[in-house]
Amino acid sequence: MDPAPLAPYAATESRSKGRRYREPDAVYRGQYQRDRDRIIHSTAFRRLVYKTQVFVNHEGDLYRTRLTHSLEVAQIGRSVAVALHLNEPLTEAICLAHDLGHTPFGHAGQHTLNACMREYGGFEHNLQSLRVVDELEAKYADFPGLNLMFETREGILKHCSEKNASALGDVGERFLNRTQPGLEAQLADICDAVAYNNHDVDDGYRAGLISLEQLRGQPLFDAQYREVTRRYPGLEDRRLIYEIIRRMINTVVTDIIETTKRSLDEAGPESIDDVRAAGRPLVGFSAEIGGQHRLLKQFLHQHLYGHEQKLEMTRKVQTVLRDLFETFMSDVSRMPAEFAAAAGRGDAAARARVVADYIAGMTDRYAFAEHRRISG
Ligand code: MG
Repeated sequence: MDPAPLAPYAATESRSKGRRYREPDAVYRGQYQRDRDRIIHSTAFRRLVYKTQVFVNHEGDLYRTRLTHSLEVAQIGRSVAVALHLNEPLTEAICLAHDLGHTPFGHAGQHTLNACMREYGGFEHNLQSLRVVDELEAKYADFPGLNLMFETREGILKHCSEKNASALGDVGERFLNRTQPGLEAQLADICDAVAYNNHDVDDGYRAGLISLEQLRGQPLFDAQYREVTRRYPGLEDRRLIYEIIRRMINTVVTDIIETTKRSLDEAGPESIDDVRAAGRPLVGFSAEIGGQHRLLKQFLHQHLYGHEQKLEMTRKVQTVLRDLFETFMSDVSRMPAEFAAAAGRGDAAARARVVADYIAGMTDRYAFAEHRRISG
């Protein structure tokens, strides 16, 4: 199947708001392909392999990490983008970059760092992902960050508080005037949730933290369970779960494609600007599948992320990150030289931001190693 031409409401290079710093076009690649390549070559991207998705790195080798999660999001996103005649390289770039600003230790890390930063403007991982690609990656001679296209940056900044949005200029505007991002950004956001909802079932089941009986209480799971056991009676556990999960992903993805096609037909956007002004997201689930998807999400929150065994790890990593934050805030010279120098230049809020940048960039095991170092 050859790629279809882009729909009129897809993001295109010719109608793009461009890069922050002008640079000559690449000769053999499109602009969004170039963004994707820059993301893959970034330091922050390589660190994702040692950052927690749900299970801390040392809990087992087969669990998703933030890297494999990002790859799964990108893979789902690309399929849907092609089916909807949207910009595939842009979708891929956004999906690969969406978690670059994530702290070590997953959501426990995010909450802890946000709490540490409460007096200094807080810590939002979406905003940090943008900060990574705009400021923190230091690789190119001509500009700070990766100098990505506006539409890629728009997609990376999924959520943002109004206070922070007003300081961001063009890419923050939509949080102030309540407009929508382009369809590729909407798609990347929803595919993030599709990916984790499904791979967390797989990881949670493998870890023994959730059971088949519990999962059968979930309509999205149970519909496929009944279908697979009817067609393949006696299928062994591992293959049963995989077969169910791949069918769940297919169900949800098909639903997104069909529902979004209907929304696009109804709203009739003729350009990406019409999409932005549509007043509501045009990418989405049907009411029925959307409801089942949210139910599964709630289930995972309650029974997997909130499982006692995971809470124990959460308490441990809270201590690690809090100790790191307090130590570096009171003595910036305990950080590597370039962070110490940057932290020494501003007021307390500026110092805290440098400390947060340093901690957020850590992998799980580096954070543990730094904690051992500061604890002597
Ligand atoms: Mg994600």
